[in-house]
Amino acid sequence: MRLLIVEDEALLAEQLSAALTAAGHAVDVAPDGEEGCFLGETEPYDAIILDLGLPKMDGAAVLRKWRAENVTTPVLILTARDSWRDKVDGLDAGADDYVTKPFVMDEILARVRALTRRAVGAASPVFKRGLVEFDTRSGSVTHSGRPVTLTAQETNVLSYLLHNADRVVSRTELSEHVYGYDEERDSNTIEVFIGRLRRKLGAELIQTVRGRGYRVVEE
Ligand code: CA
Repeated sequence: MRLLIVEDEALLAEQLSAALTAAGHAVDVAPDGEEGCFLGETEPYDAIILDLGLPKMDGAAVLRKWRAENVTTPVLILTARDSWRDKVDGLDAGADDYVTKPFVMDEILARVRALTRRAVGAASPVFKRGLVEFDTRSGSVTHSGRPVTLTAQETNVLSYLLHNADRVVSRTELSEHVYGYDEERDSNTIEVFIGRLRRKLGAELIQTVRGRGYRVVEE
């Protein structure tokens, strides 16, 4: 999954980015409201973490603009502790959830998982397809109960396909959700990741829909 962090405190942004990258996501960071607003409008994120106190354009204004433009991406806002007014304003502006600062990183990771799951209507944090199980909490994958080692990008490709099961996902769409803004995107490498996933998890898991893309079928 691909995430945007809009946070002006450089250290905090870096910590969030590192934790979410380690959890297998592609992550972009915007240091102010204007850049964050632009990225949120133009890039297809699976979830956004938005600080409310931002230079150039405050977080609630950014969020209202996105929602007015029908950007439906799930948004988790970061609010100051004990500021109930911030939470109310943020939720009314279109936020899906909030975390108060200072926070524990595990809480952010869990809330992002819940948001991306809810966005696709998945009730369980564990995806099961045939002999394959993917636990979004740990990022671990098993085949017939045996652990399978995947690279971060293979995990991200698998995660995106499982979150979008029963739908044909094109190579372009996959590459937009697996790579960050500054990374070089090459949709041919997506084919390589799919090939490796099939070798590791069985050929039947991911179907090729000729000329259109890939699909994981719901059971
Ligand atoms: Ca701030």
